[in-house]
Amino acid sequence: MYDSIIIGCGFAGAVVARELAEKKGQHVLVIDARSHIGGNCYDRLDEHGILIHQYGPHIFHTNIKRVYDYLSRFTEWYPYCHEVVGNVYGKELPVPFNLNTLEMVYGERAPYLEKLLLDNFGEGARVPILDLMNHENKELQEIAQYVYENIFLKYTMKQWGKSPKEIDPSVSGRVPVLLSRDNRYFQDTYQGLPLHGFTPVFEKMLDYPGIEIRLNCEAKEVLTIAPESGEPIRFEGEPFQGSIIFTGALDELFDCRYGRLPYRSLRFQFEHYNRPYYQSHGVVNYTVSEDFTRITEFKYLAGQLDAPDTTIVKEYPMPYNGAAGEIPYYAINNEENDGLFAKYKALVDKLPRFYLLGRLAEYKYYNIDAIVDRALSVAEEI
Ligand code: UDP
Repeated sequence: MYDSIIIGCGFAGAVVARELAEKKGQHVLVIDARSHIGGNCYDRLDEHGILIHQYGPHIFHTNIKRVYDYLSRFTEWYPYCHEVVGNVYGKELPVPFNLNTLEMVYGERAPYLEKLLLDNFGEGARVPILDLMNHENKELQEIAQYVYENIFLKYTMKQWGKSPKEIDPSVSGRVPVLLSRDNRYFQDTYQGLPLHGFTPVFEKMLDYPGIEIRLNCEAKEVLTIAPESGEPIRFEGEPFQGSIIFTGALDELFDCRYGRLPYRSLRFQFEHYNRPYYQSHGVVNYTVSEDFTRITEFKYLAGQLDAPDTTIVKEYPMPYNGAAGEIPYYAINNEENDGLFAKYKALVDKLPRFYLLGRLAEYKYYNIDAIVDRALSVAEEI
């Protein structure tokens, strides 16, 4: 019999599996509905030999040393520093909007405006766009209005179907106005991509005595969760007393009995071109035009700069309806949806040794480093 059963084989599930097997000598079963490990970080070589991220670009960055050290056990790193430009009516501007962007947009007025920004917020400040818009100074409001209209409004309308003012402020706050000349998308101490891709990281992490993996397996095929019953957790029909670490969508575990938890989904359109490069940067955000939000050109990410041809992906946001084949990527956090999530969470709060972990199960916007950190903590707790 298993000591723990882990549902989902992305970073949340894989880290817990490894920790419980290695530190506690546990026999763990990891199940995943998909045909592969790695969750949404799964990457693979396409038929042209380009390393693609099947579920959209995943860029690792962190300030958490224990996370960097932990993942470094399973990979060396390609020192990729992520830089993004916004395509604004054909002109490419550094995103996040920073002092270089200011100069490109405001020309001769830029030194004056730069001083105004620095006097108000200080060198290196990271100012959320919604905060800048609320500033009392008229000229700062003017900059804010430019950034709002040209970087945030249309991209966010595409991504979320709502304006930045209508979504949780922490979401647009992920990409602040940055008062420096650092063109990198992230300023974290550690950043890079696994030298041979994410999938080998998962292979190595899960290759440990005591870890069993079952792919193409829906949680509900093997697991019955009946909070009201005397035997609330059954595995393959038998009462199960070990730990359950659930990283899937909680509403679906309960047949959406209180209604569906809203998520945002994406359609990925991969395209291959027989020329060395498609665009100027690893990611170009289309912040004022197009139906897709961004284009990723993978050869930048993997350091395959000498490849003679190139593969890109366009991301088309769409609602998640729970239809077969659709994938929930982003929780849509707001008071109403978080309230609905709390109802589902209450169903499992009473269950002994039942842990929720990850973007789906916790209905939260986790980055890779944050979920690895939390998975390490949950494993310690167990
Ligand atoms: N965003 C935007 N324009 C941009 C980049 C980001 O409006 O050029 C907003 C948008 O609402 C997006 C959010 O900021 O969903 C967070 O962006 P991030 O790049 O962190 O999104 P992720 O890579 O997680 O999809």
